[in-house]
Amino acid sequence: MDESLLQRSARLGIDYLASVRERRVSPTDAALDGLARFEEATPEQGTGADAVLAMLDEVGSPATVATTGGRYFGFVVGGALPVTVAADWLATAWDQNAVLEVLSPVANRLETVCERWLVDLLGLPVGSAVGFVSSASEANFTAFAAARHELLRRADWDVYERGLYGAPPIRVVVSEEAHSCVPRALGFLGMGQQHCVKVPVDGEGRMRIDAFPELDDRTLVIVQAGHVSTGSFDPMAEIATRVRDAGAWLHVEGAYGLWAATSAQYRHLVEGAEHADSWAVDAHKYLNVPFDSGFVVCRDRSVLEAAMDTRAPYIQYSAGRDGSRLTPVLSRRARAVAIWAAIKHLGRSGIAEIVERTCAHAKRLAAGLEAAGFEVLNDVVLNQVLVAAATDEDTLGVARRVQEGGVCWCGTTRRGDRAAIRVSICSWATTTDDIDQTIDAFRAAR
Ligand SMILES: *Cc1c(COP(=O)(O)O)cnc(C)c1O
Repeated sequence: MDESLLQRSARLGIDYLASVRERRVSPTDAALDGLARFEEATPEQGTGADAVLAMLDEVGSPATVATTGGRYFGFVVGGALPVTVAADWLATAWDQNAVLEVLSPVANRLETVCERWLVDLLGLPVGSAVGFVSSASEANFTAFAAARHELLRRADWDVYERGLYGAPPIRVVVSEEAHSCVPRALGFLGMGQQHCVKVPVDGEGRMRIDAFPELDDRTLVIVQAGHVSTGSFDPMAEIATRVRDAGAWLHVEGAYGLWAATSAQYRHLVEGAEHADSWAVDAHKYLNVPFDSGFVVCRDRSVLEAAMDTRAPYIQYSAGRDGSRLTPVLSRRARAVAIWAAIKHLGRSGIAEIVERTCAHAKRLAAGLEAAGFEVLNDVVLNQVLVAAATDEDTLGVARRVQEGGVCWCGTTRRGDRAAIRVSICSWATTTDDIDQTIDAFRAAR
């Protein structure tokens, strides 16, 4: 074992994290030009491990986007808490395949514990099954597969055996502003857009209950806890009642928004979410663990297991919980290690505190930008802020200059017929000072 190599790698990681708050958020043009050094022909001969690591740091580190530094507000992106980076480094050294107890008793036990903790923290039904996946996209896919399997089973149709050819149709009821990963996952599963009823939304992107279609027991209803731009929540309590009366399946797309359940101040937003059959959540956003980490929750463990069923003579299941029975893959890293570390370190109160702090930052930012003459286009209910200047041209110009300025980074979107700058505050590392620097950067960019 090359101890000095691993020491050096740890040192480089520590130095990177020590400087990330001070550097530009977006990389410099010189750093981006430097990436050309990676464009080599396929190596015929090998290179020493030290040189490999050195090149990665010299060329790669400066070309990273400083998403962990506290002033990255693009998409919806968390920053990795130091304790989760540390735990993940150890998990990488362990290199456990987390899918079976017999392959990794420790990973399996940490998954089992985190399953219980996550269900408790999010206020979901005791005993729900949790599958540890790469992302909310994969969590949605997995949950839709479970819903499809169960709705068809109730219609005496075994989708594993018979596929979708000639199957009774499943109707999908979804917001007309559902996250883009929803139609994609539905498409993978043969539930195309023509079979989706798109529910109109109000000005905040919430499904309109007055425009909600009739449901039946062959319907999958997908609601959003946390609209990707406005941060709004569908009226889940009312929808849940209709779903229950119809015998339909309710899924909550809650990548970041479901974490509001951890906070007494914001819990009201997720009211009704606990009545669903399945949920998709990210850990790499609000829980601030390293990429890539999300989880699917399913009320009925046997349904998820049936939908993900895989059998081969060489697979040795345990008498208890095996993670592979709850996800679509047969090899994966021990994602639960970092999740366990985050929850153990923060506790329920620490997680709630991150949610509350980032939401307070969002309000401060919205007020500061309004005072600076910008318009805030959404009702800032959580951690998302949509900002516009007088014209689309001004808005996009400000966004470009903010991105180029390097103080912070925000993306753009369209809201109604207007261009908007999209700010998402999800990182444990963001401070009040970061917000004030961001307001100044917007002012200067005008
Ligand atoms: C981020 C996000 C997703 C997709 O999650 P990934 O982890 O990026 O796959 C889905 N829905 C919402 C609301 C999100 O914010």
